Amino acid sequence: MGATAIRVKQVHFVRLIGGEISTAVRRMLHEFISLICITIEVKYAISRLHKFVMPSNSKPLSPDSLLPEQLIRQEVLALNAYHVQPSPGMVKLDAMENPYGLPDGIRAEIAGAVANAAINRYPDANAQSLKQRIREVSGLPPEMEVLLGNGSDEIIQLLAMAVAKPGATLLSVEPSFVMYKMISAFTSLNYVGVPLTEDFSLDMPAMLEAIKRYRPALIFLAYPNNPTGNLFDATAIEQIIRAAPGLVVVDEAYYAFASDSFLPRLGSFPNLLVMRTFSKLGMAGLRLGYLAGSKIWLEQLEKLRLPYNVGVLPQLVAEILLQHHDVLLQQAGQIKLDRSWLFERLVGTVDVHAYPSAANFILFRLPRAASVFEGLKQRSVLIKKLDGGHPALADCLRVTVGTADENELFIRALQESIHQFS
Ligand code: PMP
Repeated sequence: MGATAIRVKQVHFVRLIGGEISTAVRRMLHEFISLICITIEVKYAISRLHKFVMPSNSKPLSPDSLLPEQLIRQEVLALNAYHVQPSPGMVKLDAMENPYGLPDGIRAEIAGAVANAAINRYPDANAQSLKQRIREVSGLPPEMEVLLGNGSDEIIQLLAMAVAKPGATLLSVEPSFVMYKMISAFTSLNYVGVPLTEDFSLDMPAMLEAIKRYRPALIFLAYPNNPTGNLFDATAIEQIIRAAPGLVVVDEAYYAFASDSFLPRLGSFPNLLVMRTFSKLGMAGLRLGYLAGSKIWLEQLEKLRLPYNVGVLPQLVAEILLQHHDVLLQQAGQIKLDRSWLFERLVGTVDVHAYPSAANFILFRLPRAASVFEGLKQRSVLIKKLDGGHPALADCLRVTVGTADENELFIRALQESIHQFS
Protein backbone atom coordinates (compact mmCIF):
# COMPACT_ATOMS: atom_id res chain seq x y z
CA MET A 1 0.00 0.00 0.00
CA GLY A 2 1.34 3.49 -0.93
CA ALA A 3 1.78 6.29 1.61
CA THR A 4 -1.05 8.44 0.12
CA ALA A 5 -3.57 5.59 0.41
CA ILE A 6 -2.73 5.20 4.10
CA ARG A 7 -3.33 8.95 4.74
CA VAL A 8 -6.80 8.82 3.11
CA LYS A 9 -7.81 5.80 5.23
CA GLN A 10 -6.66 7.64 8.39
CA VAL A 11 -8.98 10.61 7.67
CA HIS A 12 -11.94 8.28 6.97
CA PHE A 13 -11.42 6.38 10.21
CA VAL A 14 -11.31 9.47 12.38
CA ARG A 15 -14.46 10.87 10.70
CA LEU A 16 -16.27 7.56 11.17
CA ILE A 17 -15.84 7.37 14.91
CA GLY A 18 -15.91 11.15 15.37
CA GLY A 19 -19.57 11.35 16.55
CA GLU A 20 -19.23 8.98 19.49
CA ILE A 21 -16.15 10.16 21.43
CA SER A 22 -15.04 13.35 23.16
CA THR A 23 -12.85 15.96 21.43
CA ALA A 24 -9.80 15.25 23.70
CA VAL A 25 -9.92 11.52 23.03
CA ARG A 26 -10.43 12.24 19.33
CA ARG A 27 -7.30 14.47 19.28
CA MET A 28 -5.24 11.76 21.01
CA LEU A 29 -6.48 9.17 18.59
CA HIS A 30 -5.65 11.51 15.71
CA GLU A 31 -2.08 12.00 16.95
CA PHE A 32 -1.60 8.29 17.55
CA ILE A 33 -2.74 7.40 14.04
CA SER A 34 -0.56 10.22 12.62
CA LEU A 35 2.46 8.70 14.34
CA ILE A 36 1.75 5.29 12.84
CA CYS A 37 1.31 6.88 9.42
CA ILE A 38 4.65 8.76 9.66
CA THR A 39 6.40 5.49 10.60
CA ILE A 40 4.83 3.70 7.64
CA GLU A 41 5.74 6.58 5.30
CA VAL A 42 9.39 6.61 6.40
CA LYS A 43 9.63 2.82 5.92
CA TYR A 44 7.98 3.14 2.52
CA ALA A 45 10.45 5.88 1.46
CA ILE A 46 13.42 3.76 2.57
CA SER A 47 12.16 0.76 0.62
CA ARG A 48 11.80 2.93 -2.54
CA LEU A 49 15.33 4.26 -2.04
CA HIS A 50 16.67 0.69 -1.74
CA LYS A 51 15.03 -0.29 -5.02
CA PHE A 52 16.50 2.78 -6.71
CA VAL A 53 20.06 2.21 -5.44
CA MET A 54 20.14 -1.58 -5.99
CA PRO A 55 19.50 -3.28 -9.33
CA SER A 56 16.11 -4.98 -9.17
CA ASN A 57 17.54 -8.50 -9.72
CA SER A 58 20.21 -8.33 -7.00
CA LYS A 59 19.43 -9.28 -3.43
CA PRO A 60 20.86 -7.11 -0.66
CA LEU A 61 24.41 -8.32 0.05
CA SER A 62 24.63 -10.39 3.18
CA PRO A 63 27.50 -12.78 3.92
CA ASP A 64 25.04 -15.67 4.56
CA SER A 65 23.33 -15.55 1.18
CA LEU A 66 26.22 -14.19 -0.91
CA LEU A 67 26.50 -15.72 -4.39
CA PRO A 68 29.52 -15.43 -6.78
CA GLU A 69 27.22 -13.83 -9.42
CA GLN A 70 26.66 -10.88 -7.08
CA LEU A 71 30.35 -9.99 -6.77
CA ILE A 72 32.46 -11.58 -9.52
CA ARG A 73 32.84 -10.01 -12.98
CA GLN A 74 30.95 -11.70 -15.83
CA GLU A 75 34.21 -12.36 -17.78
CA VAL A 76 35.59 -14.25 -14.79
CA LEU A 77 32.39 -16.25 -14.21
CA ALA A 78 32.56 -17.34 -17.87
CA LEU A 79 36.18 -18.62 -17.60
CA ASN A 80 37.34 -22.20 -17.09
CA ALA A 81 40.38 -22.43 -14.80
CA TYR A 82 43.66 -23.44 -16.51
CA HIS A 83 43.54 -27.21 -16.26
CA VAL A 84 46.60 -29.23 -15.22
CA GLN A 85 46.27 -33.00 -15.63
CA PRO A 86 47.25 -35.21 -12.66
CA SER A 87 50.46 -37.06 -13.51
CA PRO A 88 51.76 -39.25 -10.63
CA GLY A 89 53.25 -42.48 -12.00
CA MET A 90 52.95 -41.34 -15.63
CA VAL A 91 55.57 -40.83 -18.35
CA LYS A 92 55.07 -37.08 -18.36
CA LEU A 93 55.17 -35.66 -21.89
CA ASP A 94 52.43 -33.04 -21.62
CA ALA A 95 54.01 -29.77 -20.45
CA MET A 96 57.16 -29.06 -22.52
CA GLU A 97 59.47 -29.65 -19.56
CA ASN A 98 63.14 -30.55 -19.95
CA PRO A 99 63.21 -34.28 -19.05
CA TYR A 100 66.80 -34.28 -17.75
CA GLY A 101 68.07 -33.91 -14.20
CA LEU A 102 71.27 -32.08 -13.33
CA PRO A 103 74.81 -33.50 -13.01
CA ASP A 104 75.82 -34.34 -9.41
CA GLY A 105 78.35 -31.49 -9.21
CA ILE A 106 75.72 -28.83 -9.97
CA ARG A 107 73.24 -30.44 -7.57
CA ALA A 108 75.82 -30.28 -4.79
CA GLU A 109 76.55 -26.65 -5.60
CA ILE A 110 72.83 -25.82 -5.41
CA ALA A 111 72.43 -27.75 -2.14
CA GLY A 112 75.28 -25.78 -0.53
CA ALA A 113 73.97 -22.42 -1.73
CA VAL A 114 70.41 -23.18 -0.62
CA ALA A 115 71.61 -24.31 2.84
CA ASN A 116 73.22 -20.89 3.33
CA ALA A 117 70.49 -18.80 1.72
CA ALA A 118 68.98 -16.00 3.81
CA ILE A 119 65.40 -17.20 3.51
CA ASN A 120 64.47 -15.16 6.59
CA ARG A 121 65.05 -12.03 4.44
CA TYR A 122 63.09 -10.68 1.53
CA PRO A 123 64.82 -11.24 -1.80
CA ASP A 124 66.74 -8.56 -3.69
CA ALA A 125 63.71 -6.70 -5.09
CA ASN A 126 65.60 -5.79 -8.28
CA ALA A 127 67.41 -9.15 -8.63
CA GLN A 128 70.48 -7.23 -9.85
CA SER A 129 72.86 -10.14 -9.85
CA LEU A 130 70.49 -12.53 -11.66
CA LYS A 131 69.63 -9.86 -14.25
CA GLN A 132 73.33 -9.34 -14.96
CA ARG A 133 73.72 -13.09 -15.51
CA ILE A 134 70.71 -13.10 -17.87
CA ARG A 135 72.26 -10.24 -19.86
CA GLU A 136 75.44 -12.24 -20.25
CA VAL A 137 73.89 -15.53 -21.38
CA SER A 138 71.34 -13.96 -23.71
CA GLY A 139 73.68 -11.46 -25.38
CA LEU A 140 71.15 -8.70 -24.77
CA PRO A 141 71.99 -5.34 -26.44
CA PRO A 142 73.39 -3.13 -23.58
CA GLU A 143 70.85 -0.35 -24.07
CA MET A 144 67.93 -2.74 -23.44
CA GLU A 145 66.35 -3.30 -20.01
CA VAL A 146 65.21 -6.57 -18.39
CA LEU A 147 62.09 -7.17 -16.28
CA LEU A 148 61.70 -10.45 -14.37
CA GLY A 149 58.46 -12.32 -13.85
CA ASN A 150 57.22 -15.23 -11.77
CA GLY A 151 57.12 -17.24 -15.00
CA SER A 152 56.43 -15.45 -18.27
CA ASP A 153 52.70 -15.91 -17.54
CA GLU A 154 53.07 -13.13 -14.99
CA ILE A 155 54.70 -10.88 -17.58
CA ILE A 156 51.78 -11.37 -19.97
CA GLN A 157 49.51 -10.27 -17.14
CA LEU A 158 51.64 -7.20 -16.34
CA LEU A 159 51.58 -6.11 -19.98
CA ALA A 160 47.83 -6.62 -20.20
CA MET A 161 47.19 -4.69 -16.96
CA ALA A 162 49.33 -1.80 -18.18
CA VAL A 163 47.40 -1.23 -21.43
CA ALA A 164 43.90 -2.14 -20.19
CA LYS A 165 42.22 1.21 -20.86
CA PRO A 166 38.45 0.87 -21.46
CA GLY A 167 37.94 -0.54 -24.96
CA ALA A 168 41.62 -1.50 -25.50
CA THR A 169 42.36 -4.64 -27.55
CA LEU A 170 44.87 -7.50 -27.26
CA LEU A 171 45.43 -9.31 -30.56
CA SER A 172 47.03 -12.66 -31.23
CA VAL A 173 46.65 -15.55 -33.64
CA GLU A 174 44.68 -18.79 -33.27
CA PRO A 175 45.53 -21.42 -32.37
CA SER A 176 48.21 -20.13 -30.03
CA PHE A 177 49.07 -19.99 -26.32
CA VAL A 178 45.75 -19.94 -24.44
CA MET A 179 46.92 -17.53 -21.73
CA TYR A 180 46.82 -14.56 -24.15
CA LYS A 181 43.05 -14.95 -24.35
CA MET A 182 42.56 -15.87 -20.69
CA ILE A 183 44.57 -12.89 -19.44
CA SER A 184 42.57 -10.58 -21.74
CA ALA A 185 39.52 -11.73 -19.78
CA PHE A 186 41.32 -11.26 -16.42
CA THR A 187 42.08 -7.65 -17.33
CA SER A 188 38.89 -6.73 -19.24
CA LEU A 189 40.73 -6.29 -22.55
CA ASN A 190 38.95 -7.03 -25.82
CA TYR A 191 40.55 -10.11 -27.34
CA VAL A 192 40.94 -10.64 -31.09
CA GLY A 193 42.33 -13.98 -32.33
CA VAL A 194 43.18 -13.96 -36.05
CA PRO A 195 43.02 -17.50 -37.50
CA LEU A 196 46.25 -18.93 -38.89
CA THR A 197 46.16 -20.48 -42.37
CA GLU A 198 45.59 -24.20 -42.79
CA ASP A 199 49.34 -24.95 -42.50
CA PHE A 200 49.49 -22.74 -39.36
CA SER A 201 51.36 -19.84 -40.94
CA LEU A 202 50.40 -16.17 -40.53
CA ASP A 203 47.48 -15.04 -42.67
CA MET A 204 48.99 -11.66 -43.52
CA PRO A 205 46.02 -10.01 -45.29
CA ALA A 206 43.82 -10.99 -42.31
CA MET A 207 46.44 -9.81 -39.78
CA LEU A 208 46.92 -6.41 -41.43
CA GLU A 209 43.17 -5.94 -41.79
CA ALA A 210 42.61 -6.81 -38.10
CA ILE A 211 45.37 -4.42 -37.01
CA LYS A 212 43.77 -1.61 -39.05
CA ARG A 213 40.29 -2.41 -37.72
CA TYR A 214 40.95 -3.05 -34.01
CA ARG A 215 44.06 -0.85 -33.44
CA PRO A 216 45.40 -3.31 -30.80
CA ALA A 217 47.34 -1.89 -27.87
CA LEU A 218 49.16 -5.22 -27.55
CA ILE A 219 49.98 -8.02 -30.01
CA PHE A 220 51.43 -11.38 -28.90
CA LEU A 221 53.19 -13.67 -31.36
CA ALA A 222 54.71 -16.88 -30.02
CA TYR A 223 57.93 -17.63 -31.93
CA PRO A 224 57.95 -20.69 -32.22
CA ASN A 225 54.20 -20.93 -31.78
CA ASN A 226 52.54 -23.15 -29.16
CA PRO A 227 50.83 -25.58 -29.85
CA THR A 228 51.67 -25.70 -33.57
CA GLY A 229 55.49 -25.71 -33.10
CA ASN A 230 56.36 -23.67 -36.20
CA LEU A 231 58.35 -20.44 -36.53
CA PHE A 232 56.33 -17.83 -38.38
CA ASP A 233 57.96 -16.05 -41.31
CA ALA A 234 60.29 -13.43 -39.76
CA THR A 235 59.72 -10.80 -42.48
CA ALA A 236 55.95 -11.15 -41.95
CA ILE A 237 56.46 -10.50 -38.21
CA GLU A 238 58.53 -7.41 -39.04
CA GLN A 239 55.71 -6.19 -41.26
CA ILE A 240 53.27 -6.68 -38.36
CA ILE A 241 55.56 -4.75 -35.97
CA ARG A 242 55.71 -1.86 -38.46
CA ALA A 243 51.94 -1.84 -39.00
CA ALA A 244 51.08 -2.12 -35.28
CA PRO A 245 49.88 1.05 -33.51
CA GLY A 246 50.87 -0.46 -30.13
CA LEU A 247 53.35 -2.91 -28.60
CA VAL A 248 54.29 -6.20 -30.23
CA VAL A 249 55.59 -8.92 -27.90
CA VAL A 250 57.49 -11.74 -29.57
CA ASP A 251 57.13 -14.60 -27.08
CA GLU A 252 60.24 -16.76 -27.35
CA ALA A 253 59.35 -19.36 -24.71
CA TYR A 254 60.94 -22.06 -26.94
CA TYR A 255 63.99 -20.05 -28.05
CA ALA A 256 66.42 -22.76 -26.88
CA PHE A 257 65.14 -25.13 -29.59
CA ALA A 258 64.71 -22.60 -32.42
CA SER A 259 67.05 -21.32 -35.11
CA ASP A 260 66.06 -17.65 -34.96
CA SER A 261 65.33 -14.91 -32.40
CA PHE A 262 64.05 -11.34 -32.33
CA LEU A 263 66.39 -10.30 -29.47
CA PRO A 264 69.00 -8.87 -31.89
CA ARG A 265 66.22 -6.92 -33.67
CA LEU A 266 65.12 -5.08 -30.48
CA GLY A 267 67.03 -1.93 -31.43
CA SER A 268 65.35 -1.76 -34.84
CA PHE A 269 61.73 -1.42 -33.65
CA PRO A 270 60.72 0.98 -30.84
CA ASN A 271 57.45 -0.94 -30.20
CA LEU A 272 59.03 -4.43 -30.03
CA LEU A 273 59.46 -6.39 -26.77
CA VAL A 274 60.90 -9.91 -26.52
CA MET A 275 59.68 -12.27 -23.78
CA ARG A 276 61.43 -15.48 -22.75
CA THR A 277 61.11 -18.12 -20.06
CA PHE A 278 63.60 -20.49 -18.46
CA SER A 279 60.81 -23.05 -17.92
CA LYS A 280 61.64 -25.06 -21.05
CA LEU A 281 65.38 -24.96 -20.46
CA GLY A 282 65.19 -26.99 -17.26
CA MET A 283 63.83 -24.55 -14.68
CA ALA A 284 60.04 -25.00 -14.90
CA GLY A 285 59.87 -25.47 -11.12
CA LEU A 286 61.64 -22.17 -10.42
CA ARG A 287 59.06 -20.01 -12.25
CA LEU A 288 61.26 -17.46 -13.99
CA GLY A 289 60.60 -15.50 -17.14
CA TYR A 290 61.92 -12.20 -18.47
CA LEU A 291 60.97 -9.38 -20.77
CA ALA A 292 63.61 -7.47 -22.72
CA GLY A 293 63.08 -4.10 -24.34
CA SER A 294 63.40 -0.37 -24.20
CA LYS A 295 63.48 1.46 -20.86
CA ILE A 296 60.52 3.65 -21.82
CA TRP A 297 58.19 0.63 -21.69
CA LEU A 298 59.86 -1.45 -18.98
CA GLU A 299 59.95 1.39 -16.44
CA GLN A 300 56.16 1.65 -16.71
CA LEU A 301 55.69 -2.11 -16.29
CA GLU A 302 58.01 -2.08 -13.26
CA LYS A 303 55.36 0.00 -11.45
CA LEU A 304 52.88 -2.88 -11.75
CA ARG A 305 55.29 -5.66 -10.80
CA LEU A 306 54.58 -6.77 -7.24
CA PRO A 307 57.58 -6.29 -4.96
CA TYR A 308 59.65 -9.48 -4.48
CA ASN A 309 57.85 -11.43 -7.24
CA VAL A 310 60.94 -13.64 -7.68
CA GLY A 311 61.88 -15.30 -4.38
CA VAL A 312 65.27 -15.78 -2.74
CA LEU A 313 65.58 -19.43 -3.82
CA PRO A 314 64.56 -18.99 -7.49
CA GLN A 315 67.03 -16.09 -7.79
CA LEU A 316 69.81 -18.07 -6.20
CA VAL A 317 69.26 -21.35 -8.05
CA ALA A 318 68.66 -19.71 -11.44
CA GLU A 319 71.90 -17.78 -11.08
CA ILE A 320 73.83 -20.98 -10.41
CA LEU A 321 72.14 -22.73 -13.32
CA LEU A 322 72.95 -19.87 -15.66
CA GLN A 323 76.60 -20.19 -14.62
CA HIS A 324 76.24 -23.66 -16.13
CA HIS A 325 74.31 -22.46 -19.15
CA ASP A 326 76.45 -24.72 -21.37
CA VAL A 327 75.01 -27.81 -19.59
CA LEU A 328 71.46 -26.63 -20.19
CA LEU A 329 72.19 -25.81 -23.84
CA GLN A 330 73.72 -29.27 -24.25
CA GLN A 331 70.49 -30.81 -22.93
CA ALA A 332 68.50 -28.61 -25.34
CA GLY A 333 70.77 -29.84 -28.15
CA GLN A 334 69.98 -33.45 -27.24
CA ILE A 335 66.26 -32.62 -27.18
CA LYS A 336 66.57 -31.19 -30.71
CA LEU A 337 68.22 -34.42 -31.93
CA ASP A 338 65.51 -36.52 -30.26
CA ARG A 339 62.85 -34.27 -31.78
CA SER A 340 64.06 -35.39 -35.25
CA TRP A 341 63.89 -39.05 -34.19
CA LEU A 342 60.39 -38.61 -32.78
CA PHE A 343 59.19 -36.67 -35.83
CA GLU A 344 60.36 -39.41 -38.19
CA ARG A 345 58.60 -42.08 -36.13
CA LEU A 346 55.38 -40.07 -36.08
CA VAL A 347 55.54 -39.44 -39.84
CA GLY A 348 56.12 -43.18 -40.33
CA THR A 349 53.05 -44.13 -38.25
CA VAL A 350 49.98 -45.01 -40.31
CA ASP A 351 47.21 -42.36 -40.28
CA VAL A 352 49.34 -39.84 -38.32
CA HIS A 353 50.03 -36.39 -39.74
CA ALA A 354 52.89 -34.72 -37.81
CA TYR A 355 53.68 -31.00 -38.10
CA PRO A 356 57.37 -29.93 -38.29
CA SER A 357 58.51 -28.29 -35.04
CA ALA A 358 61.11 -25.72 -34.02
CA ALA A 359 60.24 -26.27 -30.33
CA ASN A 360 60.57 -29.14 -27.81
CA PHE A 361 57.19 -30.66 -28.71
CA ILE A 362 55.42 -31.99 -31.79
CA LEU A 363 51.80 -31.48 -32.83
CA PHE A 364 50.16 -34.35 -34.68
CA ARG A 365 46.73 -35.20 -36.03
CA LEU A 366 45.15 -38.63 -36.31
CA PRO A 367 41.69 -40.21 -36.50
CA ARG A 368 39.94 -40.82 -33.15
CA ALA A 369 42.52 -38.69 -31.32
CA ALA A 370 40.48 -38.46 -28.10
CA SER A 371 40.28 -42.26 -27.79
CA VAL A 372 43.96 -42.70 -28.64
CA PHE A 373 44.79 -40.13 -25.94
CA GLU A 374 42.83 -42.21 -23.39
CA GLY A 375 44.61 -45.33 -24.66
CA LEU A 376 47.95 -43.65 -24.01
CA LYS A 377 46.82 -42.73 -20.48
CA GLN A 378 45.83 -46.35 -19.84
CA ARG A 379 49.43 -47.19 -20.79
CA SER A 380 50.71 -44.55 -18.31
CA VAL A 381 51.80 -42.07 -20.96
CA LEU A 382 50.51 -38.52 -20.50
CA ILE A 383 50.55 -36.11 -23.46
CA LYS A 384 48.27 -33.15 -24.25
CA LYS A 385 44.88 -33.51 -25.91
CA LEU A 386 44.12 -30.43 -28.03
CA ASP A 387 41.12 -31.97 -29.77
CA GLY A 388 38.03 -30.16 -28.51
CA GLY A 389 39.96 -27.02 -27.51
CA HIS A 390 39.87 -25.17 -30.86
CA PRO A 391 38.22 -26.04 -34.20
CA ALA A 392 41.58 -25.85 -36.03
CA LEU A 393 42.94 -28.49 -33.65
CA ALA A 394 40.26 -31.16 -34.18
CA ASP A 395 41.84 -34.60 -33.72
CA CYS A 396 45.15 -33.05 -32.65
CA LEU A 397 47.47 -34.20 -29.86
CA ARG A 398 50.77 -32.67 -28.71
CA VAL A 399 53.72 -34.61 -27.34
CA THR A 400 56.72 -33.11 -25.54
CA VAL A 401 60.12 -34.50 -26.53
CA GLY A 402 61.33 -36.61 -23.60
CA THR A 403 64.43 -38.73 -23.00
CA ALA A 404 65.25 -41.35 -25.64
CA ASP A 405 63.63 -44.04 -23.45
CA GLU A 406 60.48 -41.99 -22.88
CA ASN A 407 60.15 -41.27 -26.59
CA GLU A 408 60.40 -44.97 -27.43
CA LEU A 409 57.84 -45.83 -24.75
CA PHE A 410 55.52 -43.19 -26.17
CA ILE A 411 55.83 -44.44 -29.77
CA ARG A 412 55.11 -48.03 -28.67
CA ALA A 413 52.10 -46.96 -26.58
CA LEU A 414 50.84 -44.81 -29.46
CA GLN A 415 50.99 -47.68 -31.92
CA GLU A 416 49.15 -49.97 -29.49
CA SER A 417 46.47 -47.35 -28.82
CA ILE A 418 45.94 -46.68 -32.51
CA HIS A 419 45.55 -50.42 -33.05
CA GLN A 420 43.15 -50.68 -30.08
CA PHE A 421 40.79 -48.03 -31.50
CA SER A 422 41.01 -48.75 -35.25
N1 PMP B 1 54.54 -18.52 -23.69
C1 PMP B 1 54.31 -19.68 -24.33
C2 PMP B 1 54.23 -19.65 -25.83
C3 PMP B 1 54.14 -20.88 -23.63
O1 PMP B 1 53.90 -22.00 -24.29
C4 PMP B 1 54.23 -20.85 -22.21
C5 PMP B 1 54.06 -22.08 -21.36
N2 PMP B 1 53.62 -23.20 -21.90
C6 PMP B 1 54.47 -19.63 -21.59
C7 PMP B 1 54.61 -18.49 -22.34
C8 PMP B 1 54.50 -19.50 -20.08
O2 PMP B 1 55.61 -20.08 -19.54
P1 PMP B 1 56.06 -19.85 -18.03
O3 PMP B 1 54.95 -19.14 -17.32
O4 PMP B 1 56.34 -21.20 -17.51
O5 PMP B 1 57.28 -18.99 -18.09
